[in-house]
Amino acid sequence: MTISVAARVDKNIAFDESNALEVRARRLAMRFSDSEARDILRHAIKTEFPGRIALVSSFGAESAALLHLVAEIDPATPVIFLETGKHFAQTISYRKKLADRLGLTDVRDIAPAAEAIAESDPGGDLWKHDADACCTLRKVEPLSGALGEFDAWITGRKQFHGGGRLLLPAFEAAAAHIKVNPLIRWSKDDIADYAEANDLPAHPLVAQGYPSIGCWPCTHPVAEGDDSRAGRWRGAAKTECGIHGQ
Ligand code: SF4
Repeated sequence: MTISVAARVDKNIAFDESNALEVRARRLAMRFSDSEARDILRHAIKTEFPGRIALVSSFGAESAALLHLVAEIDPATPVIFLETGKHFAQTISYRKKLADRLGLTDVRDIAPAAEAIAESDPGGDLWKHDADACCTLRKVEPLSGALGEFDAWITGRKQFHGGGRLLLPAFEAAAAHIKVNPLIRWSKDDIADYAEANDLPAHPLVAQGYPSIGCWPCTHPVAEGDDSRAGRWRGAAKTECGIHGQ
């Protein structure tokens, strides 16, 4: 699926200090609205934010292609993995296998503070009662701390995921950062073709019916033909973990 983002980007937005980040993001989004993922990434890593950008990866079902693209440009690019303490064992082993295979030298496992867990989720079952609070505790707050040294971060979000992702631009302002979304126009087939062409290992749960993989309590397999994110927070109105609301 290809969705133009140009209509969403207003190149005439007025600049003042209060909206400098927004203006910068919109200008970048306009400039790279038709660019290939590799060109977007190379510009972001090497030119626009050198030494000030990280990739945030779940090491999930669709992660390998973006990790490979980043590794080709600079394998020392920091990669943030949110170690929620609730991942499938297969994800933890895949994270190690993929990082080794791609030669990534700066993968950071970012866990919630022990004091915060002791205070807010001592029994480890907050996800059962309040998934939003659990995601805030185990993902949003740790990521916020980890991003402090960076000006920008790279995401793997794609327009075909639907919902709020349908009109994603390649660059967007988010709080104190610019988010770079190089794969916005990639389809499921593009991801599969890229993985095959580069002999990238698949997450072991994909073959068991998991097209989107997060924490084990909130991830279920989906039926053939279902939306790829239908197994996330199944039965709840929740569709995002909250890290993209920062
Ligand atoms: S995805 Fe589920 S287990 Fe993971 S942080 Fe969010 S609510 Fe908690």
